[in-house]
Amino acid sequence: MDFINVIENYYTTNKVAHIYKNSNLTYSELKTKSDSLAVNLIDLFCKDKTPIIVFGHKDHLMLISFLACAKSGHPYIPVDISTPLTRLKDILIISGAKLIINTSDDLADIPANIVLNKSDLEKILLQYENKIPNISYRLKGEDIYYIIYTSGSTGKPKGVQITKKCIQSFIDWSITLINEKDKIFMNQAPFSFDLSVMDTYLSLVSGSILYSIDKDMIVNLPELFVNFKSSGITTWVSTPSFAEMSLQSEQFNEKLLPKLNQMLFCGETLSKECVKRLFERFPTIKIINFYGPTEATVAVTAVEIKKEMLLSKETLPVGYVKKDCEISIEENTNEILILGDSVSIGYFDDPILTEKIFFNSEISGVKKRGYRTGDKGYLVNGLLYYEGRIDNQIKLHGYRVEIEDIENNIRKLPFIKNAVVVPIIERGKIKYLAAAIILNDTFEGNIILVVKHFLRDLLPSYMIPRKVKVIEVLPMNANGKIDRKKILEEF
Ligand code: AMP
Repeated sequence: MDFINVIENYYTTNKVAHIYKNSNLTYSELKTKSDSLAVNLIDLFCKDKTPIIVFGHKDHLMLISFLACAKSGHPYIPVDISTPLTRLKDILIISGAKLIINTSDDLADIPANIVLNKSDLEKILLQYENKIPNISYRLKGEDIYYIIYTSGSTGKPKGVQITKKCIQSFIDWSITLINEKDKIFMNQAPFSFDLSVMDTYLSLVSGSILYSIDKDMIVNLPELFVNFKSSGITTWVSTPSFAEMSLQSEQFNEKLLPKLNQMLFCGETLSKECVKRLFERFPTIKIINFYGPTEATVAVTAVEIKKEMLLSKETLPVGYVKKDCEISIEENTNEILILGDSVSIGYFDDPILTEKIFFNSEISGVKKRGYRTGDKGYLVNGLLYYEGRIDNQIKLHGYRVEIEDIENNIRKLPFIKNAVVVPIIERGKIKYLAAAIILNDTFEGNIILVVKHFLRDLLPSYMIPRKVKVIEVLPMNANGKIDRKKILEEF
């Protein structure tokens, strides 16, 4: 059944759909407000189906706007407030979006005629109260449902287009793997990160409460734990990094979260050490490891991690593939290829990159889309194991980062001839980034501060190298490539 209909069926019950900072949004409000906003968007745009940027953090208006876009025939582009203005402007230009729905309290420097601010939204919700959008506008099948912009190696973000069919397929599969009745799902990931699709839509289609944690709570463990204590969270959804951060405190245990019964992980390697500690703190917990890239709609494989898996010599598996997809391993490179209904139709307005990374193939005689993940792995009796990357993409605290994205942005500084960024790894995990730079000319002043300050306007803060060092020449390896290992020795 169409997942939007499923969500709307909870409309009459007056159940709570979303909690953010002690404020509740009910399913009834979610439906009526997204209806009103959708009718306004239809009035504004008529048959123009351009994507709409939904900017902000965890406000109820984010969810209302996502559904309003879907009901008025527009893909939404979620952009988190942590995104610098220059990057937002890049996304605005390359996506061709004609509107930004701004659910945050500030967004200066963008022409006012293309922004709907909170005050505008309040007026619209009143003016269009009780209006219902014509169902014919609603996104369906191969229509693009959302576009998520991820780090791109050229220095500009790339837009992954996910169709309604892709997300429907993800929901239909993942909902069968979890306990889903009357739960409270934790939402930790920003809505601009596709992991949030897992908690948001699984929560909404199961008539549960989505409990949002925000960025200020994450940097303040005592405050976060006060929130946890009163949250009643039953289902944890995060990257392993966020669980590891919480595990640093002894208080993170079943006394703090007595109702927690399942933890869903995705986005980076789930280590045995992390799982072992989670079982110690939450002895009856069910842990599921999901695997997948944004380009294949959140996740395409999953497996429950059982205690006995900790005894095996192998790393933890990342799962069995969902029914409407296939995983294969490329022979010489061991690259993981994904084929099937979850795969995106490609990058927005980038046919060259799309052609390079996506392909067409067949499953049982039916033509399906395929995606080269850039991940290495192997299969044992249908169970997938992940073995790292074949390129310079990394995961830093759960965020996907193309190293070249940072390098290309550093090179925009006129006095910089070249820049190489390397991840600094401690105990098997990337802790931070370091940049080695070569200058064009002598530079008066504090180069490190200048580089960091310059990047702050271009990149999200997690992509800014913590260390910057000037070097004289770039070391090369025998193949004539930059010797990144040698550069690591500089730090
Ligand atoms: P993203 O598009 O941000 O979801 O990042 C996708 C990438 O995260 C994948 O291509 C993998 O490199 C990595 N990844 C996702 N899930 C897992 C997992 N369970 N274990 C290890 N790496 C993962």
